[in-house]
Amino acid sequence: MIIEILVIGNEILIGKTQDTNSNWMAKRITKYGHRIHRITTIGDSLDEIARTVQEILERAPAMIITTGGLGPTFDDMTNEGVAKGLGRELVLDKHAYNMIEKAYKQAYEQGILKLEGMTKEREKMAYLPEGSIPLPNQRGTAPGVKIEEKGTSIFILPGVPAEMKKMFNNVIKPILKEEEGKFYQKGFILSGIGESQIAPYVTELEEKNPELWIKTHPRVGLAVEVEISVTCFDRPNCENLIDKVLKKLKQTVKNLGGIIKKEYD
Ligand code: ATP
Ligand code: MG
Repeated sequence: MIIEILVIGNEILIGKTQDTNSNWMAKRITKYGHRIHRITTIGDSLDEIARTVQEILERAPAMIITTGGLGPTFDDMTNEGVAKGLGRELVLDKHAYNMIEKAYKQAYEQGILKLEGMTKEREKMAYLPEGSIPLPNQRGTAPGVKIEEKGTSIFILPGVPAEMKKMFNNVIKPILKEEEGKFYQKGFILSGIGESQIAPYVTELEEKNPELWIKTHPRVGLAVEVEISVTCFDRPNCENLIDKVLKKLKQTVKNLGGIIKKEYD
């Protein structure tokens, strides 16, 4: 699956909060053999959210995951922005309303919150784009949202990391596992020649094998770590392909006078 992440929040743009959510999700999505094509970060602006959702949809990924801006305050406007982008109405969702009411009732009974019952701000979180499926929030109050739009599944998740992670694990992980691809990563560390010397050979191999993603990392001193990672979907010969390309790269390194120091997979 091709997936895009949309991070929403002014606090991230001003540097008050570091976006750790997309990194956490990207690791897991990659682990299950899927590919993130883009991570976009924008502020809490209605028009910006609407426009960005439209732009991402034009690239037709299988899934869009948004994080942030689901809360009760006026500056949280992700649902409204997504609704605008999709040209859908924002409507009161009865299921979402019940979820929120229940969450606040529990918080009140446990003494976590002093204010009982629904308020305008709390009710706001029950307004979802028309045709949404609300997703329970087991760590907070704002429900997440699932929307289908022209072959793309849109998941709207909270920004609070604990809430986002729980919802991701409950709802998105099972989908990723069901459509699991295989992710292989193998590589080696070399020394004696620089990253720039090996670069043209890496480029050539990448052009010949577009299903491979080959990276080189400079390490301390003159050593270069060459790492090859492959994402494959129903390709039984993926591991063979990675081995073949690694063998070629190692031969190139030797021909250039480099030394292979350590191999790993
Ligand atoms: P809530 O319902 O609790 O208000 P929310 O979905 O509205 O959640 P935000 O208001 O966007 O989320 O963010 C709440 C807090 O979560 C932020 O103050 C920040 O600390 C954290 N947060 C938001 N986005 C991210 C992110 N991408 N990475 C890490 N932390 C984040
Ligand atoms: Mg909030």
